[in-house]
Amino acid sequence: MFYKNIRHKSGCVICGKRLIYNDEDEALNCLFCHNTFYSNVKCIKGHYICDRCHSLSANELIQEYCISSQSTNPLNLSMELMRHPAIKMHGPEHHFLVPAVLLAAYYNRTGSFQEKKTKIITAGKRAEKILGGFCGTHGACGAAIGTGIFVSLITNNTPLAGKEWKESNMMTSKSLSVIAEHGGPRCCKRNSFLAIIAVTKHFNINGFNSAESIKCEFTRFNKECLKSDCPFF
Ligand SMILES: [Zn+2]
Ligand SMILES: [Zn+2]
Repeated sequence: MFYKNIRHKSGCVICGKRLIYNDEDEALNCLFCHNTFYSNVKCIKGHYICDRCHSLSANELIQEYCISSQSTNPLNLSMELMRHPAIKMHGPEHHFLVPAVLLAAYYNRTGSFQEKKTKIITAGKRAEKILGGFCGTHGACGAAIGTGIFVSLITNNTPLAGKEWKESNMMTSKSLSVIAEHGGPRCCKRNSFLAIIAVTKHFNINGFNSAESIKCEFTRFNKECLKSDCPFF
């Protein structure tokens, strides 16, 4: 798909670097929706975001990005989403981000686009019920519950199921345990990474890539960052 695009005023929203304005438009791929646009604006590192993605809400962005991405690496997907300004340092959008990147990576591997799309949309509806601050008020981090949403969706779990019910609750329990071990205060980035890694370890799915050496880019935005006590610092 080709669209015309001319706007973008300040620095790059991804890396903060200077934008360059060329005399002529060139074909550029939007980092988030992966569509091709003609634009004369990109940052000096080559980042480009279309106008539409620039103005999406957090949950709209997560849904669109995960549906259109081809990646099988859920940690890379999460990092790319977290760079967008709509995803705040902390916030309940991470409760959707975790199952969405896992579903995208999982179904990109199996090649089932329609199933991926349907399940990501369903995950969004389920994640909306996990309100902000759940970790502090309910003793259950929303990123961990997000891994339970992921397993419930890929196994078609219901409250009446046997094996699937066990798998889903087991996944939430494993993620929550790892997250709890690292202690507070909350960090939606740390806990999202820990939850995603817990899933990749639990399933050990061939080709379901993880990158445990991930380095957090958000410490400067988090005044409660554990710094050297965080595995991603
Ligand atoms: Zn940039
Ligand atoms: Zn876009």
